[in-house]
Amino acid sequence: MKVLIQNVSLFDGINEAIRQGCFISVEDGVISEISHQLNPAMEYDRVIDAAGYTVIPGLIDAHTHIALSDTFNAIDNMTAEEVAVRSTVIAREMLERGFTTVRDVGSNCYGLKQSIDSNFVPGPRIYPSYAGISQTCGHADYRQNRTQRSNFNQGLDDSSFMRQGHLVLADGVPECLKRTRDQIFMGASQIKIFGGGGASSLFDPLDTIQYTREELRAIVETVTNYGSYVCSHIHAGPAMKIAIEEGVKSLEHATFMDDDIARLCLDKEVWVVPQYATAELIANRKIPLDSEILYQKTERVGKGLLKQAELVEKYDLKCAFGTDLIGTPEVHAKQNAEFSARKKYFGSFRGLKQATSDAGELLKLSGLLDPYPEGDIGVVCEGSYADMLFVRGNPVDDLDILANPDNIQVVIKGGEIFKDTREM
Ligand SMILES: [Zn+2]
Repeated sequence: MKVLIQNVSLFDGINEAIRQGCFISVEDGVISEISHQLNPAMEYDRVIDAAGYTVIPGLIDAHTHIALSDTFNAIDNMTAEEVAVRSTVIAREMLERGFTTVRDVGSNCYGLKQSIDSNFVPGPRIYPSYAGISQTCGHADYRQNRTQRSNFNQGLDDSSFMRQGHLVLADGVPECLKRTRDQIFMGASQIKIFGGGGASSLFDPLDTIQYTREELRAIVETVTNYGSYVCSHIHAGPAMKIAIEEGVKSLEHATFMDDDIARLCLDKEVWVVPQYATAELIANRKIPLDSEILYQKTERVGKGLLKQAELVEKYDLKCAFGTDLIGTPEVHAKQNAEFSARKKYFGSFRGLKQATSDAGELLKLSGLLDPYPEGDIGVVCEGSYADMLFVRGNPVDDLDILANPDNIQVVIKGGEIFKDTREM
């Protein structure tokens, strides 16, 4: 299948300047040529006109839980089939909001990813971590209350949510190795762990360090041997320091950062993936929660992240766009609000780069485990996947444009149109 996109005003994901009057040739889902002149010898199966729009790379959300379509409590009362069916709605709507690729950092999206990649349902490319790995009583020990304590005889956890494979517990080096290899067996492109206390969990204070150095080292070595990397949920400073020293490459949230940790990130080329739109909401208690403890934890995280943005900016840290939304389609619909927050802290061009070429660079750390090795992502270049958006207005000048998904009128993934709201 050969596709031509003509009259393109192009933001390629890397350079701030918009290139005018481009022709983009796509062959079998990958961009084969970008030129300023049409090659008359070429024949195309389809020609798409992009006049009047800015064409940008398909967006990347580097921190999603794509199979989680409701609160943990609600999912605890669903069958695995129900969760799977609902996830197809979340996936389609993400694609329609312009996200052609996501990194999933903890949810059982195996069936969803297979169904998307084989074209049964529309959705983004998924870089899956599958089950996020947590220690017992860690951030992702989501047994909802203490009556769900482990069955000591069989070692099983009693939460239906956890049995569905979104999260898994591992304690001690042998279990950490086993659970890590289990996720790789399932096709994980990177491993997600929980290296410190969380805001939405009940039994682990925010400042806790989770996993010993020995356990961390075992997980990192296993993943590194498979050519990929570990990302870790993390808020507390001391936990971040240990994680970086033991080889974790992507800090999810990275909330209570200081100058020393920022310098360590720079030195070790560690990525941070914070969520600023959510931070603004939770800093002001604008998301309803079940208990005062949760309000106190989330408020602290929200305020911490807004301060952290100054350090990310000051040290120009490697930073990717991520949203971390978990809930119904209405909750996921807030995904694009992150663009307005990024504009505020980093400006439009850098904020957009974080969701395109920068995030693409992070995802490609998956190396030997990359599920999409045939092309680059997050950029529009020769040799990249033909994932592109037609946007009304120029988001390089004003990133608020992407906060409203209606301004994204065409979504192309792998050279195929998945959304087209242009008036004919
Ligand atoms: Zn998350």
